Amino acid sequence: MREAIAEGQKALPACLPNPPVGCVLVRDGAIIARGHTQPPFEAHAEPMALAQVEGPLSDVICFVTLEPCSFHQRTPSCAKAMIARQVGMAYVAMIDPHPRNQGRGIQMLREAGMVVVTDFLTEQARPQLAPYLYKEP
Ligand SMILES: [Zn+2]
Repeated sequence: MREAIAEGQKALPACLPNPPVGCVLVRDGAIIARGHTQPPFEAHAEPMALAQVEGPLSDVICFVTLEPCSFHQRTPSCAKAMIARQVGMAYVAMIDPHPRNQGRGIQMLREAGMVVVTDFLTEQARPQLAPYLYKEP
């Protein structure tokens, strides 16, 4: 997750107003792909990382700093992309407070059979993400 947070830092400032999310894919203890939020209308962190590897990823662990998006807005849903690639397990640092997510992304992953650990190294990820997350008006 520390590597994912470092990856997220690369997203700033081009990703704004989207949050600077970082993602790494790990297989057999080694990082095989990295991704971070691209400028609006381009890939989020998860699809960027997924695009770097081929085939099903049932033996892969995805570390991502923010809950994958459950909905299609400017880009397709990242949760759906992770399910389509059969990612085996995910560690997520922060739940997305956006009203259209708020745990729905996690729920989608779990319903697809993925093992998901939430609130993993949250305090380490929070300073990077919190200023950019959805806030109640
Ligand atoms: Zn996304």
